[in-house]
Parts: sequence; C-alpha cells; structure tokens
Amino acid sequence: MDKYVVFGNPIAQSKSPYIHTLFARQTAQAMTYTAQLAPVDGFKAAADDFFASGGRGCNITAPFKEDAYQYASQLTERAKLAGAVNTLKKLDDGVILGDNTDGEGLVQDLLQNQVELAGKRILLIGAGGAARGVILPILAQQPEQVVVTNRTLAKAEQLAELFSGYGNIDAVALEALEEPDFDVIINSTSAGLSGQLPGISDKLIKPAVTCYDMVYGPKPTAFNHWARDLGAGKTLDGLGMLVGQAAESFMLWRGIRPGAKQVKNELRRAMQE
Ligand code: NDP
Repeated sequence: MDKYVVFGNPIAQSKSPYIHTLFARQTAQAMTYTAQLAPVDGFKAAADDFFASGGRGCNITAPFKEDAYQYASQLTERAKLAGAVNTLKKLDDGVILGDNTDGEGLVQDLLQNQVELAGKRILLIGAGGAARGVILPILAQQPEQVVVTNRTLAKAEQLAELFSGYGNIDAVALEALEEPDFDVIINSTSAGLSGQLPGISDKLIKPAVTCYDMVYGPKPTAFNHWARDLGAGKTLDGLGMLVGQAAESFMLWRGIRPGAKQVKNELRRAMQE
C-alpha cells in the first residue's frame, strides 16, 4: 500500500482523507491516506519521518504551507509564484517536489460549472495566501483583466506587481469599485468565516455575474447569500475548489485524474447530514 497523508495543526477537521479515499476507490489505487497532526514548530521533523518510513506524498494545510515550500528540494512554477506548497511528492530519484494545486482546483471547479475565464473580467477580493495561490492559474486562462482588491490596498498592489509579467492584472481600492464591470467575482477573503461580507459595493452585482466564495459550509456563505439576494446569476462556494485541489494532487501522485464532480456531490451530501 502506498502511503499518503495530510499534515496540519489542527487537522481533525480535514476532509482530505475522505476525498482521497473516495478517489482511490474510484480509480482502484492501492493506497492509504490519513490525517496527521504535526507540532506547530515540527513540520520538518514530521515530514522527514514520513518520507523515511516510505511515504510517497502528502498534502499540507495551515499553518505549514510555507514550511513545505522551504522543505521541497524542487518547486513547480506555480508553487514558486504562490510562495506556498500544498502538495509534496517524492520522486524516484529521492527529490521532494513541491507543488501548489489550489489555483488549478479553483479554475477546474469554475470550468466544471460552465464558468469560462477566457476573455472575461475577473475581480479577486482579498490578497492573502489563498489569493496569491490562485492568480497564476487564473491568468493562464487568459482573462481580459484581473482586478485585485483588498481591505489593505497595499497587499493587493504587491500581488498585482508580482504577477504583472504574467497577464493583465491591476490593483484597485475597494471603495473605487462602483461599476458592474465584472463577469466573475471571487471572494478569497476569510471574512465569511465570521459571517462577514468582504466589503464590495452592491452595484457590482448584476444578473450576468458569477460570484465564487472560497469559504464553504453546509449553508450558503454570507457572501453568496448577499450576492444571490442582489440577483447574481450564479453563486458557487469553495467546496469544489477543495475537491479540485485534491484531484490535482492525486493526479500528480498517481497519474490518474479522478472524477471530482461525483466526490464533490458526495461530500456536500455528507456535510448536510
Ligand atoms: P489570509 O489570512 O492569508 O488572508 C485573509 C484575507 O482576507 C486578507 O486579504 C484579509 O484582508 C481579508 N479579510 C479578512 N477578514 C476580512 C474582513 N472582515 N473584511 C474584508 N477582508 C477581510 O487567509 P488565506 O488567504 O489563506 O485564506 C482566505 C480564505 O480562503 C479562508 O477563509 C480559507 O478558508 C479560504 N480558502 C479556501 C480554500 C478552498 O479550497 N476552498 C483553499 C484556501 C483557502 P487584509 O489583508 O486587509 O487583512
């Protein structure tokens, strides 16, 4: 049995073992996938032990994504630009490859829900780690423009600068956004975790807009609830991104693409029970 884990602290809440166990069953892979709590200052030791005992790959969640970035001996381009790693894979020559599959997970979830990004105007709210991780895969879809906005504008400006060589990206202050110019609005802030809204104007919501909240839960998130009340055409939450990033990690490890949609539906059902 090939061994995989997810490291985090806390970790009991992680849905990754559930998702990967379904992927493994679906694709008939001989593998185990479990959750492992690592001490806050002990990621390196935990990862060393894991790989020394035959571990093939792992996912990394908060607060270890930057530790995993340091740990990797080789990085994919998207992990380099994200500044964070959520997937490690031990290659045949012993090299530990670090990747970041979060952004591709988001893009694949949007595409599966018939939301195209090519040629579209995208608003990304938030400029934390999650925002940084999704910008390169979004730009790879060749949108007309990505606008990053954030409560702390300087952080949005830093991201726009960092990715300026990869596509048309700008930073604009929250309060300067007054026109319904966007086709897709992605909320990457953590505001929803405390039931708060990220602070964009009502005027940005129109029937043709898709609103995507990276936060998810058994009920519609505060942002999606708000957007739906204002008449947004489509609202999606981050459950599909979670399953999508897992599918990308699975693909990297096993070379087989699992069916994310079916697993997302099963997870949604399990969360609502
Ligand atoms: P960070 O702490 O790095 O960044 C938080 C961001 O949210 C910052 O831009 C911050 O603004 C903004 N913010 C926080 N509270 C508010 C508020 N009340 N109003 C407006 N803006 C606010 O977190 P991450 O970027 O790592 O994660 C953000 C969210 O994305 C989390 O809720 C996480 O659960 C979710 N996520 C979901 C994933 C999925 O698979 N579905 C994957 C990864 C993340 P400021 O800079 O001004 O402080």
